[in-house]
Amino acid sequence: MNTSGAPPDGKSVEHLDRAVIFLGPPGAGKGTQAKELAKHYGVPHLSTGDMLRENIAKGTPLGIKAEPVMKRGELVPDSLVLKMVAQRIEEPDCTHGFVFDGFPRTVAQAQYLTILLRQHGYKPALVVHFVIDPKLLLRRITGRRMCKVGGEIYNIYERPPKCDLRCDHDGGELEQRPDDREEIVGPRLQAYERQTEPLVAYYRRLGRLHEVNAAKSVDEVKRQVLDIVRGAR
Ligand code: ADP
Ligand code: AMP
Repeated sequence: MNTSGAPPDGKSVEHLDRAVIFLGPPGAGKGTQAKELAKHYGVPHLSTGDMLRENIAKGTPLGIKAEPVMKRGELVPDSLVLKMVAQRIEEPDCTHGFVFDGFPRTVAQAQYLTILLRQHGYKPALVVHFVIDPKLLLRRITGRRMCKVGGEIYNIYERPPKCDLRCDHDGGELEQRPDDREEIVGPRLQAYERQTEPLVAYYRRLGRLHEVNAAKSVDEVKRQVLDIVRGAR
């Protein structure tokens, strides 16, 4: 007899039932960890960057507005991002929680999210701050390559695929994001410092902030994140 409480198929019985926010500079490892955490809990990974890139690829009105802004390494206006997020969390797959990566990125976005979560009956979000020496970010950002098919994230220096520029999972071609070129990294980091970093103090004041050492290995950061989420109220 199975007395462990685990289902017979061995899948996780843990439930997230909340919004988790991954906060940190570009290249800190938020996307990599958000995919892992979302898979662990069977909830969606909501990357506003991925959502905007999908809109660009499809040529939607939102994509047409966002593309030049993203190419310059600046933030897309709050009104556009907030509408996109509000629609997304209405979808049925979000009922048991979700992992935000790259959202919120301004105080206005954070304030709106607090209201939105309350309206939908969610507990206050749990915020994981990815703390990392900015000197490590250039290598992570310029080395990043993403699978065109499944969005898997690699790094040519730190986490290369087994076969040259092909995804280990689906053989998809790996590509560099246009904004990951070295000349766009400066403006992106400035946007982070000016517009997003104030959220660290904002969430700390609300008592929602937890920190991970994002300079560690992917497995070690994953362990830190899981400890925080499992221990959270
Ligand atoms: P973000 O979503 O915060 O911009 P990513 O998750 O896309 O960051 O990671 C940025 C780059 O760094 C990717 O190329 C990824 O493979 C690599 N990376 C992520 N986490 C680590 C880590 N802990 N150690 C080394 N490289 C990492
Ligand atoms: P990311 O994939 O998170 O690195 O985001 C890539 C780019 O998308 C950013 O540099 C912004 O131009 C835009 N973007 C993503 N998320 C947001 C957001 N929450 N607010 C404003 N712009 C965003």
